[in-house]
Amino acid sequence: MGWKSMNRIVNIIIRRFYRFAAILLPLIVVTSIAPWCMSPPKRNVLLITIDTLRADRLGCYGSRTVKTPNIDALAAGGTLFEETITPVPLTLPSHASILTGRYPAEHGIRDNGFYRLPKGYPTLATEFAKAGYQTAAFVASGTLNGVFGLNQGFDLYDDMSVVKGRTQLTDRSERPADKVTAKVAEWLKNSVKKPFFLWVHYFDPHAPYEPPESYREKYRGRLYDGEVAFTDREVGRLLKVLKEAGFERDTLVILTADHGESLGEHGEMSHGVFLYRATMHVPLIFSGPGVPAGKPISSMARLIDICPTILSYAHLNKNFSCSGRDLWPIIAGRSIPEGELIYIETEAPANLMGWSALKGLRTDRFKFIALPARELYDIRADPGENHNLITSQPDVAAAMRKKMKQIEARFPKSGGARSGFSPDAGTKKSLESLGYVGEKVTTRSVKKNPMEMLEVLGFYYKAEESYRKGEWSRAAKIYTKALKIDPDCPRMMHMLAYCLHQMGDLEATQRIYERLLTLDPRFISAWSDLSAVYGKMKEYDKAVACAKEAIRLDPNSTDAYFTLGMIDELKGRKSSAVKHYRRILEINPNHYPALTQLGTLLNADPSTREEGKKLLAKARAINKK
Ligand SMILES: [Zn+2]
Repeated sequence: MGWKSMNRIVNIIIRRFYRFAAILLPLIVVTSIAPWCMSPPKRNVLLITIDTLRADRLGCYGSRTVKTPNIDALAAGGTLFEETITPVPLTLPSHASILTGRYPAEHGIRDNGFYRLPKGYPTLATEFAKAGYQTAAFVASGTLNGVFGLNQGFDLYDDMSVVKGRTQLTDRSERPADKVTAKVAEWLKNSVKKPFFLWVHYFDPHAPYEPPESYREKYRGRLYDGEVAFTDREVGRLLKVLKEAGFERDTLVILTADHGESLGEHGEMSHGVFLYRATMHVPLIFSGPGVPAGKPISSMARLIDICPTILSYAHLNKNFSCSGRDLWPIIAGRSIPEGELIYIETEAPANLMGWSALKGLRTDRFKFIALPARELYDIRADPGENHNLITSQPDVAAAMRKKMKQIEARFPKSGGARSGFSPDAGTKKSLESLGYVGEKVTTRSVKKNPMEMLEVLGFYYKAEESYRKGEWSRAAKIYTKALKIDPDCPRMMHMLAYCLHQMGDLEATQRIYERLLTLDPRFISAWSDLSAVYGKMKEYDKAVACAKEAIRLDPNSTDAYFTLGMIDELKGRKSSAVKHYRRILEINPNHYPALTQLGTLLNADPSTREEGKKLLAKARAINKK
């Protein structure tokens, strides 16, 4: 390049600079004379939650065998909390704690399926919406459907509710990570109008472990790891879209998980029954403008701290009331972490099996588990929790129990109450298909210690694998074995009866349901299932009586209304059948069987043909999804 051309380029650059400065200077002056009227810049927030992700499966948390380059890079460019603990190893309660900064006993969601966040409850989304942000959520499991109340404050809540209404245990309500990323990418590219709060939920590491083919090959024999690696790829794609859409420099990214996965540790395969570290230790990474890079923090953090930290970062609602603490001063290096406590709990063993619920307390160093037998672990010396110190360190145990009780005393008295809410039968079944509690076990005289029921739990997991594949007779054999050890377990009876029903053994199904209902007369699904069985046996009076009992206990029992509709059709009572199907569609507008039955009935009558056609078209569209 010659001198002349170099000079020309330099001149162009100088001219451009002055043009730019002419625009910029007045702004600089205005800014400098009026700092008091400037509010801090609004930054975007992207919250990524990966369901069922053990921290130790990520490279940045020490894994040498699972390839997670994208999450590792996010951690290297941000701040990683080494020891983050969930208050509860269950999807819906844990996500409610992330979004509200409160314990399950405070926000009231203690388990999946039959709790709903009360209307008007303050969450991250409601705070961002109030501040004028655009708010959107994309969730990948029916467990987090809007019906459970986490949708409040979101302008857009993209959930799985459209597929609910199918009532087979083999129909799962979940969305694979690549589909989640595609939906979010579409939104980031085309729908963002102003600063946003975006929550993206990936579900893939949750059982069953079925990663795409290439990951199945690479992670043969450890498919859970394959799911983690696949989800990492999708996190990478998501962050790439964020960058391409021009938001990367202006977005705080938080990556975490709702709970881990036991994978056989302590006799638990999945999560929810125990409170060990395999399911309670989760990753937590902050990355984005202002977040120091590559500075891991070793002291304990909690999922309830995420909400106040994000609000503090975004300069929103300084008076937001919650039980978490603001981690931002720690991230920014302005404050040294102090010893924190976290109250931990799970109601799942009680709701699932009628065994005892568990609760406890975790400090930076120790974990105390109360009820039914007490346990104490020194997490630093024994992270695998193999040596119970309850007899050798009674003073530590007593001090922790006292602190646990103090926290409990602060919880609202109504905290454990059922929110008076019951999802429709289709949602319950899809929850059961994911291994969650669709129906709560309500009465059992003796609360057994889950630790003493490991064999039953083993059978339960084994049978679960079979029924997911529709191998009813195999599953039935395993449930029968489990019932030999715990003969009064309503869950096992329900699952065995369901399998026998699918196998067409109506009499055996009837016998089991009748026994179950003498033990637990509030088991709603048993009433509605037994009603369907009687219907098939042509014992219509009994079928109607059972359906009515199910509806008395739960006015949302779509399965029971469906049986009533079918019986009415058989008896030629068309208008009554129409009424029952309409009631189902009020509860769940996407109930496929009701859409089909009602559509067909209305289609047969010229005066209602128009509506009938519409319903049938909707049913076809749902069936295609
Ligand atoms: Zn979960």
